[in-house]
Amino acid sequence: MTEEHHLFAESAFQFFEAELRPHIDAWRQAGVVERDFWRKAGGAGLLGPAMPEQFGGAGADVSFDAIVGMAQTRAGDANWGWSAHNIVLHYLLAYGTQSQQEQWMPGLVSGDLVAAIAMTEPDTGSDLQAIKTRAQRDGRDYVINGSKLYITNGQTADLIVVVCKTDPSGGARGVSLLVVEADAAPGFTRGRNLRKLGLDGADTSELFFSEVRVPGRNLLGEEEGRGFVQLMSQLPWERLMLAVLADASMESVIEDTLAFVKQRRAFGQRVMDFQNTRFKLAECRTRHNVTRAFVDNCMVALVQGELTAEEAAQAKWWACRTFNRVVDECLQLHGGAGLMLEYPIAHHYRDSRFARIVGGTEEIMKEIIARSMDSDDGHP
Ligand SMILES: Cc1cc2nc3c(=O)[nH]c(=O)nc-3n(C[C@H](O)[C@H](O)[C@H](O)COP(=O)(O)OP(=O)(O)OC[C@H]3O[C@@H](n4cnc5c(N)ncnc54)[C@H](O)[C@@H]3O)c2cc1C
Repeated sequence: MTEEHHLFAESAFQFFEAELRPHIDAWRQAGVVERDFWRKAGGAGLLGPAMPEQFGGAGADVSFDAIVGMAQTRAGDANWGWSAHNIVLHYLLAYGTQSQQEQWMPGLVSGDLVAAIAMTEPDTGSDLQAIKTRAQRDGRDYVINGSKLYITNGQTADLIVVVCKTDPSGGARGVSLLVVEADAAPGFTRGRNLRKLGLDGADTSELFFSEVRVPGRNLLGEEEGRGFVQLMSQLPWERLMLAVLADASMESVIEDTLAFVKQRRAFGQRVMDFQNTRFKLAECRTRHNVTRAFVDNCMVALVQGELTAEEAAQAKWWACRTFNRVVDECLQLHGGAGLMLEYPIAHHYRDSRFARIVGGTEEIMKEIIARSMDSDDGHP
């Protein structure tokens, strides 16, 4: 991290401490982050720091996005769905036409618009090519029919990038990305806010599309059938972001646990004084440091445009699995307090499990890595 990174991290953290931390419990109860918070975060320059200045961004590199996530984690939150919103910004940056960028990017950067990315469907998640949501050309429009499941920001999103089949017989080449503007899409409906294990304040929904007509100009990029390639090109950094969040969460969990075991007493001594506690925390610290070294390395590669899909997959499965292991060990050191929701560790435990599934499951990550090992040049 450079001096600039540290300054940005500190100002992001101060913002989250003042504007996010006090509301975490209320948003968990409500099942959704208050809409106005998005605008405040936009005003503080936290939505799309890597977007061009002409659209309200800071023109920084993608490592500044990672800092937003790290600061959010440090302030004790994993619920605010900034990450999905940020993915859409990067799709627009990479594939959007000039007019698409002009139309949507300023609102997304200011927080006036909230975004979601809708890939998963009731019948398919990992096997993205098997999606059924259909976008059929009709004159100058597309007509979308289908449904999506487990969509982050599903209740709040104004702009939804929907992964559709424009040519059902075309396999991966039949997939396209269409931007649906929720307010201008009769036939689009949101299902209920799904109840889930952890991340109580993050709205996750099913979305329905029935004869939803969107203008042809809402096709992301100018060419039909590029959706699968577009998704695959972005997934490595999206996965690295999940690794960064797992890594930052691990750090918080270890710090919280250290504070707890140093003040909690049993058998006339601090819990910290038991050899078991010391060894467990030593293992956690080592696991965290080893993870951070690899994730940092991947971040440098990403900024230099050299991160490979298999490195990102390694970072994702390793960091998320290690985080799950560390959080479990740390909860154990809390005793009964670890199960009480007034302690951060209990929330970390509940909120951490999703990481091994979302953004590509652990098994799919290993499949990507193994495929690269099974090819002649070491790459899939
Ligand atoms: C909280 C949350 C938020 C989410 N947000 C979004 C979002 O914003 N947008 C979005 O599009 N999706 C989102 N998802 C969906 C998420 O990305 C999928 O759940 C995930 O990709 C797995 O897909 P699936 O649930 O269909 O599981 P499946 O694909 O049905 O997998 C079931 C099991 O089979 C295993 N499996 C599948 N294929 C293979 C294989 N080839 N080899 C070995 N094992 C395999 C999997 O690893 C898993 O263990 C979200 C999910 C959650 C829980």
